[in-house]
Amino acid sequence: MAGILFIISAPSGSGKSTLVSELRKQVSGVDFSVSWTTRAPRGSEEDGREYHFTTREEFLRMADDGLFLEHAEVFGKLYGTARLSLDDARAAGHDLLLDIDVKGAAQVRQKMPEAVGIFVLPPNPNVLRTRLRNRMRAEGVVDEDELHRRLGEARKEIENFRQYGYILINDILDRAVAQLEAIVLAERFYRNGEPIAYRSRRVLEVAAACLQTNSQERMKPVLEAFGILGDSGQQQLPFGDEPDDD
Ligand code: ADP
Ligand code: 5GP
Repeated sequence: MAGILFIISAPSGSGKSTLVSELRKQVSGVDFSVSWTTRAPRGSEEDGREYHFTTREEFLRMADDGLFLEHAEVFGKLYGTARLSLDDARAAGHDLLLDIDVKGAAQVRQKMPEAVGIFVLPPNPNVLRTRLRNRMRAEGVVDEDELHRRLGEARKEIENFRQYGYILINDILDRAVAQLEAIVLAERFYRNGEPIAYRSRRVLEVAAACLQTNSQERMKPVLEAFGILGDSGQQQLPFGDEPDDD
């Protein structure tokens, strides 16, 4: 049975890694591609678990040797998906999940148009700022420059949402996890004819509601809050002086 390639993208701090780790606890047969990066490990991250951490020189050598399926510069650091991740998942007959930025996702989509794209949105800019700041606090370093850099990129990244078949709004974590699980099970059902043991209709309904084409109403307030779809047609400025939503 052919494995399915899932690409998940989101502005940094939206909760993508959290969603993916919850999904992996609940659904078997999905491999997670551990990317290579030139950024330094954060908090409790371990080499080979969250990322393969490497130097810029080594990364560029690997890129020259054609070892990456895709790679991109994000927040001034290099990130890439090893082709080996795809080969290993295929050999095992597993699905593969890539947590990559919008530029890397575009490269993969070009090579593999059958990939399933999932875009995760935070509910609004203030929640995003709070999550980024809380994560930094938990990791022991609140780097305001890095925080602003990541917030500043969020809107540009969100503008790419149309390239993704599914939209998840990560407001209530349990609901977003259930939606992600439903998308995976529904895609397995439609593409591979894999039966969904129970709750099948409900699962398919939940996944269908997350299709981008069915998500206009849900997305509207989020896009407006990020200044992407102002009611008056004017762009609003996100990240004003409002306090964080702690
Ligand atoms: P990303 O991988 O998108 O950069 P993370 O998964 O690291 O984001 O999440 C950023 C922070 O937000 C983490 O501290 C995480 O615990 C928290 N978080 C994630 N999802 C939720 C949610 N639905 N509600 C509240 N906090 C969340
Ligand atoms: P972080 O530094 O917060 O772990 O990740 C920053 C951004 O890099 C996120 O948007 C994440 O999805 C992206 N990223 C992680 N791994 C890869 C990768 O292998 N390729 C690309 N293109 N982006 C990646």
